[in-house]
Amino acid sequence: MDCIFCGLIREGTASWVDRGPVACAFAPLNPLAPGHTLVVPTLHYADVFETPPEVLAVTTALVQRVAEAARTALNASGVNILSASG
Ligand SMILES: [Zn+2]
Repeated sequence: MDCIFCGLIREGTASWVDRGPVACAFAPLNPLAPGHTLVVPTLHYADVFETPPEVLAVTTALVQRVAEAARTALNASGVNILSASG
């Protein structure tokens, strides 16, 4: 059983923003807003509850870098960050 994120990561077909061994970031197929970026652990974890703290720390650091880049690139006053778990 494979999830859509794991499929994109394995096939390398995503529009990559950043791709690392622990966390990666890519543009969604249907962006909801300018700068909309998905940031996920490179290995599969079902949600925030299942993700090891050290992986969550690396993923969150990437969220921060992406947020800073989006804010600068879009000259935005802020960003929204959402985590869906369950
Ligand atoms: Zn997955």
